[in-house]
Amino acid sequence: MAKKQFKAESKRLLDLMIHSIYTNRDIFLRELISNASDALDKRYYLSLTDENHKVDKDQLKIRIDLDKENRTITLTDTGIGMTQQELENNLGTIAHSGSLEFRQKLEEGASDVDIIGQFGVGFYSAFMVAQRIIVETRSATDDQAYSWISSGEDGYTIAPIMKEEVGTRIILELKEESDDDKVNQYLEEYTIRSLIKKYSDYVRWPIQMEVETTRTAEGKDEPETVRELQTLNSMVPLWKRSKSEITEEEYDEFYKSKFTDWEKPAKVIHYSVEGNISYNALLFIPAKTPYNFYSADYEPGLQLYCKGVFIMDKAKDLLPDYFRFVRGLIDSDDLNLNISREILQQDRQMKTLARNVEKKIKSTLEDMLKNEREKYEEFFRNFGLSLKFGVYQDYGMHKDQLQDLLLFKSTYKDEYTTLDEYVSRMKEGQDQIYFASGETIEQIRRLPQMEKVLDKGYEVLYFTDDVDEFAANIMMEYKEKKFKSINQGDLDLDDEQEKKAKEEKTQENKPLLEKMKEALGDKVKEVRLSSRLKSHPVCLVSDEGLSMEMEKVLNQMPNQNEVRAGRILEINPDHPIFATLQKVQQVHPEMIGDYADLLYSQALLIEGFKVEDPIDYANKICDLMIRSNQN
Ligand code: ADP
Ligand code: MG
Repeated sequence: MAKKQFKAESKRLLDLMIHSIYTNRDIFLRELISNASDALDKRYYLSLTDENHKVDKDQLKIRIDLDKENRTITLTDTGIGMTQQELENNLGTIAHSGSLEFRQKLEEGASDVDIIGQFGVGFYSAFMVAQRIIVETRSATDDQAYSWISSGEDGYTIAPIMKEEVGTRIILELKEESDDDKVNQYLEEYTIRSLIKKYSDYVRWPIQMEVETTRTAEGKDEPETVRELQTLNSMVPLWKRSKSEITEEEYDEFYKSKFTDWEKPAKVIHYSVEGNISYNALLFIPAKTPYNFYSADYEPGLQLYCKGVFIMDKAKDLLPDYFRFVRGLIDSDDLNLNISREILQQDRQMKTLARNVEKKIKSTLEDMLKNEREKYEEFFRNFGLSLKFGVYQDYGMHKDQLQDLLLFKSTYKDEYTTLDEYVSRMKEGQDQIYFASGETIEQIRRLPQMEKVLDKGYEVLYFTDDVDEFAANIMMEYKEKKFKSINQGDLDLDDEQEKKAKEEKTQENKPLLEKMKEALGDKVKEVRLSSRLKSHPVCLVSDEGLSMEMEKVLNQMPNQNEVRAGRILEINPDHPIFATLQKVQQVHPEMIGDYADLLYSQALLIEGFKVEDPIDYANKICDLMIRSNQN
């Protein structure tokens, strides 16, 4: 039989498994049992939905046999089994996401030993205890059975075999026992029994093993030792048990192994609903953003069970997009077993269910925000972007739902604030929610426009995510206070007297301003005197409508026609540069164009844009330096 090599990406992981002497390698058993349990779920589902594959539920189980003499552990399940092709695909490569993530962590240089035990590393973890693994399997959909044999590094062979029963048998031939490699413990009933209790108690299929017990038979006085088949697990799924009986550790273990995360969840949401549609839900909010969360290969969704029968993984329609970070499962007695992905979308009960789940997640988050602020902020750092996108998407139809869950950093203590908190701090007479956009808080803080707004005592929200302005735009207002960019349109910071003074000054300097506008041409819509600047000479603002931040974001998107915000160059009439401009206008009017250009370029730079013609800009500055020292 020709030996096949493992796919390259599997080799590294495999290598790690074979050579690691890791104290927490216990988890290999949990991994094999979870695979067997999945296989039983699939077989049972098939039997309920396909006439040709009927099977008696009593037959569905997992059995463990320990053979001390030959030093083997055998796990037998009557699950769905694997075809030849499936053997090849499933055991020849790392296919599942947990391992991929694991591999990525390794590549990032995380210490091997720390993470193996916490990770669902799947089937290959058996190589931590076995020197050779034999898999014998027959698929429910195939008459021919196959074996898969591997000693790890040197590849594997697949061959046809005789096997009557549908399902899979996995024989682990243990490594040599040595002082620092105590594998023999896994041949002890006691060890296996306690590992099952610890990691696999809630598995819904019986896990059986022949164990030694003492019993006093009827009519006899002396107890005798007998061997009998016992079910080692309690078989009650965790989510069906009462909350008060479940320890935090049990939830954590369950989450980690079921959803292949190496960190315990930030929040567990476990509840049941009786009513129109009854169900149990066990939901989790991860503690960290999954590495692929913002990429296309992140698959959101909840596991769906019906009457305890696993129906599908990642049922997408159970979660709104903005709560896509939630992992977990729903088990309902009221759904149709035959529900398919296509029907799922239109099913009325599913919709009710989804609405219900959404409400629960929302109220949990609200509760966290109110009572566990720090925890909520940590959550928001991880997944806040999802909520902001939620506000923006679908033309803002979810904004009422989500706006109170949003956090922004603001000039008030530079900490996170809710919109409600912002509004409650608003100054008397303030009727707008001010925000400023930029790449970083640091950058925003230094915007020329900030000074005066802060001087007037207004609080400003820092918008540092691309989506922020879009979300604010869609919300338009919060509690009847309009969102207002300090960078756009008219800020209305001045009192009546200041306004009048500015109006007069504008009239006086009309020729100058017009000349500058003329020199700049289409680059700007207007050149005007500013009432938002304090110590800085110029700034660039946009008129109402498309802002310059949005322009940047939109122009980064693929397949988007170039857009351009209407720019207005504002000059600070109280800055010495203005007096200089007035003087130049009188003495060297031919130079006003150059000055206008320079100031416009400066304003562009401050706004984080590129100067349109850097060489021209540099030359003009150079000229100016030379000239200012000529006389
Ligand atoms: P995962 O369980 O995360 O998919 P594993 O490495 O544990 O990854 O298993 C790889 C695949 O091998 C499984 O997805 C499954 O298709 C198949 N498999 C493993 N064990 C069994 C089994 N006992 N019965 C049927 N299929 C199995
Ligand atoms: Mg697995």
